[in-house]
Amino acid sequence: MQWLARQLRQLEAKGLRRTLQPLPAGGPYVERGGRRLLNLASNDYLGLSTHPRLVAAAREALARWGVGAGAARLVVGDRPVHDALEAALAALKETEAALVFPSGYAANVGVLSALAGPRDQIFADALNHASLNDGARLSRARFRYYRHRDLEQLEQLLRGPGPGRGGRRFIVTDAIFSMDGTLAPLPELVELAERYEALLIVDDAHGTGVVGPEGRGTAHHLGVAGRIPVQVATLSKALGAQGGAALSTRTLIDYLLHRARAFIYSTGLSPVLAAAALEAVRLVQSDEGEYRRRRQQAHVTRLKAALEARGYTVRHEPPAPMLAVLVGTPEAALRLSARLEARGVLAPAIRPPTVPPGTSRIRLAPMATHTDEDIEAALAAFPEAETLQSHAV
Ligand SMILES: *Cc1c(COP(=O)(O)O)cnc(C)c1O
Repeated sequence: MQWLARQLRQLEAKGLRRTLQPLPAGGPYVERGGRRLLNLASNDYLGLSTHPRLVAAAREALARWGVGAGAARLVVGDRPVHDALEAALAALKETEAALVFPSGYAANVGVLSALAGPRDQIFADALNHASLNDGARLSRARFRYYRHRDLEQLEQLLRGPGPGRGGRRFIVTDAIFSMDGTLAPLPELVELAERYEALLIVDDAHGTGVVGPEGRGTAHHLGVAGRIPVQVATLSKALGAQGGAALSTRTLIDYLLHRARAFIYSTGLSPVLAAAALEAVRLVQSDEGEYRRRRQQAHVTRLKAALEARGYTVRHEPPAPMLAVLVGTPEAALRLSARLEARGVLAPAIRPPTVPPGTSRIRLAPMATHTDEDIEAALAAFPEAETLQSHAV
């Protein structure tokens, strides 16, 4: 197995070697090497993963149902809390029904491979999340990327040869592109999908709970919630728990129950996590949810304005809960990330293959539970942008 070691050495030489680095705990501040760091690296945007209400709900569920579901949902792994969570998620997204999966990854793989088949065409944004691409591949449909948010190219593809007899077309997109802080042009995608009779699938992993009125998500924020036939959400990010969900009509959800292998052949989501996620769905629709969303967005706005004023190229579109500070090479991104960490700020370098070559970056995701002083401290840890460039060469 020398070839594996050789490949790892090659990754190392390119600055692409990765390692796991356990932290004693999550939350707005984390500890590494005995030092307290400001955590700008998580997707726990609203700080719900450690919220007392979620912890209490999880504890209660633990006492009642135990840790694991014990079987697939269709066998004996279904608990009342799964049904309650699905009803709450459908109400949040204003769809007829929802189906909960063990993760957002599993939801995407399950939905795409169940709905699309070898005779179909899938058109996908080039920056879509890996799980959507993996699901598309598993479906064996014909798969075409369009350039990130390039509606003209998408329309060209839609005008081109159709899928053939009995085939269908799908347009698949993230709602918020987490490595860029950009939004999908959902109103235009809805138009195209309707005009060319394609089924639009939108993965709102990063918007659910943190974007839009009452945290309903990006589709509501952009005013097209009722016109998106299939949505996917994750319970693992702003909702602070774990798991994924498909949201659609009752018929489509019923179909998934029979055809989504990632659902059928996997143990049901832990009732503990389902209970925590249910509490999170309630919380994000309350005044406290609204307050947390406003705090989080204020932090994003402040970081963006201050970094741009200091010469950084920042990618972000409101109200995305994260922003990207473009740096260039993987080495430069690693160097900046290391410098930030030395000054008490945890912000990951994002490198290829997660992002295209030449666009390595630092991703900043502040939390609602950070203070204004925390955000100023994070800004103070950044060097002037020009110093960074000269070191980057
Ligand atoms: C994180 C993410 C997922 C996967 O969700 P998990 O619950 O972490 O498995 C899917 N899609 C997108 C766009 C994501 O960002």
